Formats: sequence, structure tokens, C-alpha cells
Amino acid sequence: MFEDVLSLLFPESCYACSGALARGEKFICTNCSIKLPYTDFHVHGATEHNPLQRRFWGKVPVRFAFAYLYFVPKGRVQRLLHQLKYKGAQELGEHLGQRYGSLLSDHQYNQHFDVIVPVPLHKYKMRRRGYNQAESFGLGLSQSMNLPSYGHALVRKANTATQTRKNRFDRWKNVEDVFQVPRPEQVRDKHVLLVDDVMTTGATLEACAVVLLAAGAKEVSVVTIAAA
Ligand SMILES: [Zn+2]
Repeated sequence: MFEDVLSLLFPESCYACSGALARGEKFICTNCSIKLPYTDFHVHGATEHNPLQRRFWGKVPVRFAFAYLYFVPKGRVQRLLHQLKYKGAQELGEHLGQRYGSLLSDHQYNQHFDVIVPVPLHKYKMRRRGYNQAESFGLGLSQSMNLPSYGHALVRKANTATQTRKNRFDRWKNVEDVFQVPRPEQVRDKHVLLVDDVMTTGATLEACAVVLLAAGAKEVSVVTIAAA
């Protein structure tokens, strides 16, 4: 009863629309849950019908490419990502990971992967934010897919975004200056599920995949919360 009184006085709000959550709703209200722009890429698997897959063609071999949601500017997905990045909503990342991981497991994708590895933040950014939003999402995936998550398998050395403007040859030369695998035995001969919050060009995921494969990973797949 005390909890009921508390929730009347301080109702928790939906991370996607800021409306009050009803009893039994958690993080995202039912109306938003129905209306979120789901990609359903997992239905297509690794085929030409999966547009994310095509972003990596001719760049780096990626077995599967998944995103839970379409990124729509000013919409629910942008609000979710904003909360996740700037409002410290770490538990929201975990919740989204659990939801998407259950869906991927329902389609037996969990059997393909050996380990989950999040795209790392540079340590200064990590210190400022207190957590890595990609790692929060990865943690939820790891729980619902029953896979280990190695939060430090990849480290970001340079405090810069991947050089997307340089041509590809230049980018490939500098990826190992940006990302490193300090303990290659964590990924050697493994199918790595690489995790990030959002995919725009795919350049950051591409750079991480190159470095993981160079460190001996057997295969790399990628999954994000949203894709532009
Ligand atoms: Zn809502």
C-alpha cells in the first residue's frame, strides 16, 4: 500500500513520451511499446533484404546486423536514446537489451554467438558519464540471451570519433590507433556480438569489427538499439 501511495504522489514516467506509467508498466508505457518503430531485421537475417547488412558489404565481413528500432528524429526513439545517454538511465539500456535479446533468442540467434562485446567509450568520457550506454544494452542482451558480456574486451585509445571523412584506406590504417583488444584470448576463435546504442554510417562498428577480426575473432555480428 505504501508503494501505491508513493506512485500516486510520484508517478514514474515513460522514457519515450514522459507520460505517467500505469501500474505494471515499466520504463516504457504500453502505448509507446505498441507504436515504437521496430525494424524486424531479425526476420530477414543475413540477406539482401536487411539494409543494415548492406552497409558492411565490401568493407568488413559481418555475419548478422541487427537494430531493434529505426531512429526517427524528434520521435520516441530519439527521446529514449537521449535519456540513455544524458539522463543516466542506465537501467533503460538494460531493459531494452532484455527485450531485444528475448526476441532474438525466440528466433534462435543466441545459438550463433559466443560473447557480447560493447563498443567502448574513451576513459575520460566514461568517467564523466559514469557508465557506457552500449554496455548497459549489452548487459540486458547478455541476460536474455544467456551469453557472457566482456565490457573491457575492446578499449578506445584515442578520444576521437572514428574518422568518417577520411577515405577508407586511411581509416583502415588508423583503426588500430583508436581501438585495441588488450586480451586477444577473450575473443580468439569466438563469434563476437558487437553492441552499440546507435548506428549511423556504421563506421565505428566497422572499425571495431576490423580490430576484433585482426585479434583472432572467428566472426563478428553487430546489434544496436537504433539505426538511422
Ligand atoms: Zn510512453
